[in-house]
Amino acid sequence: MKLPAFDYAAPQTLAEAIELLVANEDALPLSGGQSLIPILAFRLAAPSLLVDLRRIPGLDTITLSERGIGLGARVRWCDIEADQRLATAHPLLADAVTYIAHYPIRSRGTVGGSIAHADTAAELPGIAVTCDAEITAVGRNGARTIAAKDFFTGPMMTSLAHDELVTELRLPPWPAARCWAFEEFARQHGAFALAGIALYYDVRDGVAANVHIGVIGASAQLQRIAEAEAVLNGRAVDDAAILQTAQAAAAAIDPADDIDAPAAYRRALVETLTARALKRAASRPR
Ligand SMILES: Cc1cc2nc3c(=O)[nH]c(=O)nc-3n(C[C@H](O)[C@H](O)[C@H](O)COP(=O)(O)OP(=O)(O)OC[C@H]3O[C@@H](n4cnc5c(N)ncnc54)[C@H](O)[C@@H]3O)c2cc1C
Repeated sequence: MKLPAFDYAAPQTLAEAIELLVANEDALPLSGGQSLIPILAFRLAAPSLLVDLRRIPGLDTITLSERGIGLGARVRWCDIEADQRLATAHPLLADAVTYIAHYPIRSRGTVGGSIAHADTAAELPGIAVTCDAEITAVGRNGARTIAAKDFFTGPMMTSLAHDELVTELRLPPWPAARCWAFEEFARQHGAFALAGIALYYDVRDGVAANVHIGVIGASAQLQRIAEAEAVLNGRAVDDAAILQTAQAAAAAIDPADDIDAPAAYRRALVETLTARALKRAASRPR
């Protein structure tokens, strides 16, 4: 389908981009276009102006420091895949990104676009919530930092104001000995997940500590599953603990019942994927 008519601007600075958003109430930022262009083609949005972010300098860097991993809003999926440092600096992120779409899409889709689009089945927003990431947004009133759990307010909904642009996602530092796994189920490789589980824990005195378990695809809210985390915290990761944690995860979520899958199927997927992820995390050499 042909796109609706719109004006196009490619500002050279962040300030100029924000000015354009302030001046045009129905303008939308354009990053990789891998979600926005299909949205326009389906006539789900008809902005008067697209503000292309590609010429704004400084948004495409991946930084590693004692503060963690900073991903600029214009960092693409293929940039994350190509950055060998991330295999050790944040293996959960590096692994999850390989599940996103297909290479042509991964060569254009960006961190900022995915975070702002806030699809509950998308890998990066799920990793952001699971890892307690922070998102920096800049608007007419300056910059603010938002915890991922407060940023995503519902399916495809965020706490961003119209004039605010995501500039960076920051993941906390990742200890080398951490146990982790990402598991998802999609009908075909590259499709959005019907359900996915991202998890990690640290081992202290032989038991799991600091357990983080997040779900994508199977729930209307991007969330950590506190009930499942509580089952595993303080326990040895053995077969009984894995089963009970997986059952707690499945019981705690409120899965969508829609054309893609019935709620009961998604709930069963969450139990299976949680158990699979915990087994994989426990079996990895630390
Ligand atoms: C066939 C197909 C399969 C896909 N499969 C997956 C998948 O399995 N997993 C997955 O996660 N994604 C998937 N995607 C989506 C893809 O990852 C997108 O690239 C991503 O969701 C959006 O990134 P983008 O840079 O393309 O953003 P755009 O499409 O340019 O923008 C998306 C939205 O974010 C807004 N926006 C963009 N940048 C900013 C910013 N810096 N600040 C504020 N708002 C901003 C735009 O206005 C728009 O509303 C798929 C896409 C396609 C076409």
